[in-house]
Amino acid sequence: MKLICKNCEMEISNVLTELRDLSLLNEEIGEDHTPLDYIPQGYFLIVGEGDDVDEKGTIIINMKDLINSKHHRDGNRLNGCCGLDGLDGLDGMNRVCLNGHEIGTENSDCWMPHYITINRNTVNFV
Ligand SMILES: [Zn+2]
Repeated sequence: MKLICKNCEMEISNVLTELRDLSLLNEEIGEDHTPLDYIPQGYFLIVGEGDDVDEKGTIIINMKDLINSKHHRDGNRLNGCCGLDGLDGLDGMNRVCLNGHEIGTENSDCWMPHYITINRNTVNFV
């Protein structure tokens, strides 16, 4: 399946498979602060209630699987040290589709595993 923007139906992800083996998730960062991917490429994960990544129904994907997307034009949302820390709730979503619709948040700062969280209210599965 793929994710599309709910507003303009633009594809915003590569073809993805739901991740069943949660042991593939990576909570670590590299020894020299080399950022690692939180979730392997080609997979998505729906975060359920009780997990610590924000609200129920957030979709997590690999950064390399996000397509037709750009950063939010509001620079206040693009906070971070080396990358983007994606601490939304504070800053709001920092990723939009090419037509400017908010779709999710890039989490790519140097001290965290890297991933994209997609807000389930802004996309559809196809
Ligand atoms: Zn859109």
